[in-house]
Amino acid sequence: MAQTAENINGLSLVTERPVADIDPTGNDLCQLCFGTGMEIVPGKGARPCSCRESDRHANPFEKVRVPTRYIKCHFNSYEPGTPSQKEAVRFAMKFVQEYPAVDQGLLLMGSVGVGKTHLAVSILKGLTERGFSPLFYEFGSLLKEIQDSYNAFTHTSELAVLSPVLKADVLVLDELGASKPTDWVRDTMAHIINSRYNDNKLTIFTTNYHDIRTGTEETLEDRIGVRLRSRLFEMCRTMIIDGEDHRRRMHLPRRS
Ligand code: ADP
Repeated sequence: MAQTAENINGLSLVTERPVADIDPTGNDLCQLCFGTGMEIVPGKGARPCSCRESDRHANPFEKVRVPTRYIKCHFNSYEPGTPSQKEAVRFAMKFVQEYPAVDQGLLLMGSVGVGKTHLAVSILKGLTERGFSPLFYEFGSLLKEIQDSYNAFTHTSELAVLSPVLKADVLVLDELGASKPTDWVRDTMAHIINSRYNDNKLTIFTTNYHDIRTGTEETLEDRIGVRLRSRLFEMCRTMIIDGEDHRRRMHLPRRS
């Protein structure tokens, strides 16, 4: 099949296949739901499409791309120790129950080890159990994948890398702001985030950076720029989670 090329927000993309033939998980497009994951049943409304149903029986969680380290995370293994953690887990569970009738994504903001990724993975698991096909990416690894797919001769990146990221109905982008904010990183982040915003796709971000500056620490705005931070206010409900670093707590010497 002939190659097709796109140029969106200054990013040149090339693919071997037309975009319409690729669904969020990279498979052939389902003719019942056209890749949305929701099938419309006349007179009854919407339900998870049967194509997702067969995926569920095959291997429910493999396609979500959650790192092995987080595979066991679920709501039932999250121990909320602070009021903000209780509020975050309550809201995350509500998100799963009410999806797809949800109009904003989530920005889980807080220090290292308070369980932001644990909660984001729990949401993806909950949605997968309900028959949806969300995706998880660590933002830094995604940027590296895009960079590695760059073809210096044609000045293009493989749409195969970006297509699932742009099309997933619910996407977790873990560790927003962690990558060194070069112009390329900012442009690529803006392309991904703005495309998803324009297509009404829900995105769940986690970040260790805060909005309020303390001492000499950089803020989220310092890391991603004022425009993107402003876009996230529209796209997401910000949940500030505080608490102890769970990793540190687990490895403290026990008192006898
Ligand atoms: P963050 O994304 O906020 O840096 P993580 O979600 O990566 O933190 O948590 C680090 C580790 O601690 C993970 O193994 C996670 O399962 C665990 N953890 C963090 N907070 C909690 C919690 N409140 N209850 C249970 N496990 C937690």
